[in-house]
Amino acid sequence: MNDHPAPPKAFHLTPIGIIEGDYPDKFGIPRQPGLASAARASLVLLPPFDDPLTVRGLDAFSHLWLTFVFHQSPERWTPLVRPPRLGGNAKVGVFASRSTHRPNRLGLSLVELVDIDTTCGVCLQLRGADLVDGTPILDIKPYLPWAEACPDARAGFAPEAPPTLAVTLSPAAEAMLARRDDGDSLRALICQVLAQDPRPAYHCGAEERRYGVRLRDVDVRFHARTDATGETRLEVVEIVAM
Ligand code: SAM
Repeated sequence: MNDHPAPPKAFHLTPIGIIEGDYPDKFGIPRQPGLASAARASLVLLPPFDDPLTVRGLDAFSHLWLTFVFHQSPERWTPLVRPPRLGGNAKVGVFASRSTHRPNRLGLSLVELVDIDTTCGVCLQLRGADLVDGTPILDIKPYLPWAEACPDARAGFAPEAPPTLAVTLSPAAEAMLARRDDGDSLRALICQVLAQDPRPAYHCGAEERRYGVRLRDVDVRFHARTDATGETRLEVVEIVAM
């Protein structure tokens, strides 16, 4: 090994911005960005980073890498984790996973940049983020497909997007959406999030159980139904304003 000086024991990192978006809670957020493209978020830059000069030219990029802190995860970590994709029992190394319980609690998400508002400070309008409200953002970088897109890459135990469930909405839920100006985008968000089956893995099969997930400014109440062919779908029973 080279005799380069040992790195410092710790680095001081300052959040450059905060996420405000459609996910008030961790529960229900898809496991990776882009799985619910209807999810809207604002990335509000914090002083002194909220100088419009910091984002000059950024609008020429359609996608951004966000580096952030899983601030709602505990600081403790373990060398092995249980990825939900493996059913919650099999273990892999924490660095072979996208677990939120990891050293330094760093997350990385590729998100779509929709607009940049510099009328008061800097606010980036994003789509498809998988981050809970209040997530501190450490860095923003433009996505370079020619350098970073590797469609033929081996992807271990997560070779493709997770399977999805069919989602239906009750007439009462549809009536509530019809009364909202953002009804179409909220319906898309609800269907995309529920299609990822947010139910805890150990609950699957409990048909009488009713679930609630908070999205945007509503509480979406749903249950599971399995038909004669064994196909499970999630039905939105009601949507209640928070
Ligand atoms: N794409 C990122 C990555 O690979 O680092 C995140 C992947 S992680 C599996 C996605 C999950 O992180 C979401 O389903 C959500 O439950 C959780 N999450 C989102 N924001 C968080 C935060 N600020 N603190 C802790 N967990 C968070």
